[in-house]
Amino acid sequence: MSLISNYRVWLVQICKGVILLAGVGYDSNVYIIDDELIIDTGTGVFFQQMKEKMEKMFDISKIKTIVNTHCHFDHTGGDKKFRDWLKAEIAIHEADKHSVETGKNTIAEVFGETAKTVTVDVDNVLKNGSLVKTTNFSFEVISTPGHTPGSICLYEKNKKILVSGDTLFEDGVGRTDYPGGDKNQLLKSLKKLSRHSINYLLPGHGMPKTSGVNFLIKQMLASEAFKEDI
Ligand SMILES: [Zn+2]
Repeated sequence: MSLISNYRVWLVQICKGVILLAGVGYDSNVYIIDDELIIDTGTGVFFQQMKEKMEKMFDISKIKTIVNTHCHFDHTGGDKKFRDWLKAEIAIHEADKHSVETGKNTIAEVFGETAKTVTVDVDNVLKNGSLVKTTNFSFEVISTPGHTPGSICLYEKNKKILVSGDTLFEDGVGRTDYPGGDKNQLLKSLKKLSRHSINYLLPGHGMPKTSGVNFLIKQMLASEAFKEDI
């Protein structure tokens, strides 16, 4: 039995210019914006299949930037392969930069890999308020520590799109028990997100959510999981 030979790259158009390559297994979701920007790259295990699909579906010569929502291996493991292929620049928040450059705290070991396999040099360092632009979209970087110190969400205010990494999912929040995780920080990050009106939630794993996102955040803020620290 071979999982890889059975692999299908599922593409979902979220709205015009926003495509999801749905993550399989432990792989994170990969988002492609305007054929110009890739958000997260998965573990890299399915790189060849993704490459073949992308060559058929996109004008890959336009892809110039790879943004990572955070340093974890299931989101960054493919970075090196994608960069070598596309000659694209890697961008990540300053607080997770050291992790991807050294492999430390990328939790590669959780997936049976060694930290060394994921190391990649960072070209662009992101901060809260940095802008990541494509032809039709302008994403603002929102620093949302909690899952990792350098976790970010990307918010597009015209379409009200939030790319949330592992900070927020369609039915919950990211775990905080890995190195660098912090539940109180995550709570503060959720409060920050609650001030943004969101029509499309594009999480790092699982399905996108196109209604009730702000209500979900409200519920998470009120949930028992955070009560003991309030
Ligand atoms: Zn993660």
